Amino acid sequence: MAYTKEDIIRMVKEEDIEFIRMQFTDIFGQLKNVALTASQIEKAVNNEIMFDGSSIEGFVRIDESDQYLYPDLDSFVAFPWRPAHGKVARLICDVYNADGTPFVGDPRGVLKRVLKKARDMGFDTFNVGPEAEFFLFQTDEEGKPTTKTNDEAGYFDLGPLDHGESTRREICLALEQMGFEIEASHHEVAAGQHEIDFKYTEALKAADNIMTFKLAVKTLAQKNGLHATFMPKPIFGVAGSGMHTNMSLFKNGENVFCDPKGEKGLSKECYSFIAGLLHHVKGMAAVTNPLVNSYKRLVPGYEAPCYLSWSASNRSALIRIPATRGQGTRVELRSPDPSCNPYLELAVCLAAGLDGIEKGMTPPAEITENIYAMDEDARDARGISALPGSLEEAIEALEADQLVLDTLGSHVAENYIEGKRKEWDEYRTRVSSWEREKYIINY
Ligand code: GLU
Ligand code: MG
Ligand code: MG
Repeated sequence: MAYTKEDIIRMVKEEDIEFIRMQFTDIFGQLKNVALTASQIEKAVNNEIMFDGSSIEGFVRIDESDQYLYPDLDSFVAFPWRPAHGKVARLICDVYNADGTPFVGDPRGVLKRVLKKARDMGFDTFNVGPEAEFFLFQTDEEGKPTTKTNDEAGYFDLGPLDHGESTRREICLALEQMGFEIEASHHEVAAGQHEIDFKYTEALKAADNIMTFKLAVKTLAQKNGLHATFMPKPIFGVAGSGMHTNMSLFKNGENVFCDPKGEKGLSKECYSFIAGLLHHVKGMAAVTNPLVNSYKRLVPGYEAPCYLSWSASNRSALIRIPATRGQGTRVELRSPDPSCNPYLELAVCLAAGLDGIEKGMTPPAEITENIYAMDEDARDARGISALPGSLEEAIEALEADQLVLDTLGSHVAENYIEGKRKEWDEYRTRVSSWEREKYIINY
């Protein structure tokens, strides 16, 4: 589908669209938008919509604040959850400076830069299939989220146990109306936890889809009196929410990761891509796992990875190679969580994999045993190191990884690190209820 400006103007008229939301994402992964009335559509498609970039966290200083939104016309779609008459549609936008150059702090631009690098290396498509998990919680009398789930169900359970089912159904139907192909949706391991998988697609669209997905899930949960959260570990002692990211590279329409003659049916490029991911995964963590809370998910025992390893099947490994071969051959990185900025996440994943390919890296041996069950000595003996244990360690690892820093670009890297350091400091200096429970009597 490739829309022209005229198509958009016509659709706004014919489909009775009253408002157009011009959307973009800030560096911390928050979706932002400005709503226009239909009368402004010509200005919008001509890239004339201006906004104050200094009011967006991590964008620009007050003295250079005029920025422009250049809509990606193919992203035009109406929100199915808004009124059928006087509809609301959205356009996902790139951010540009007043002089007509792309803004270096735009996360979508960061991903586009790495995609260009992949194309320059001869890879025409980077396909991504994300598996975003989330919780549905009840709200209190004031409509504020609680941590009470409305079901006691577990993995793959179905109604009537699963009260979230009707909400999940509504979400799936709405997403299909917006052009998503939903492959599977199911109850996850924890009470109140769900997963909806949509078909893989080219990375830029996949990142746009993740942003749309989060908006749809949150909006439709709210309509059903529930609160949806992509917080990685809302409850101690039960599974957290990941966003496993399935990746594959294509050249001339063929999956580069597949090689029927290679070991396990995988190509040399595939092994190098895995090696590149393993080499940079610590430096990537502040991006793939951006919150203080992200590191409470990356602990042993809940199918979330903590150690650097790859395996064809083992779910305690950081990288898994699902059994599918042929065009569906892919690498599944299991560390990312759904609180990350998907544009930056996919940018650093691709950059790391490409670095592995460029340098001809080879990964360490496959780990087939359950790594959770190994003690430190056993892990040391096999050379298995750990992911960063906290946001602070992740920031330090990011600062030490030049490839990841270069991928983000100095503007994003500096603002991102500054923001994350502040977040860590805020957390570090707070006194938690755990501390009080533990110490107040004995000391
Ligand atoms: N919830 C797990 C995680 O935090 C993943 C479960 C699964 O394998 O789907 O990554
Ligand atoms: Mg899952
Ligand atoms: Mg998975």
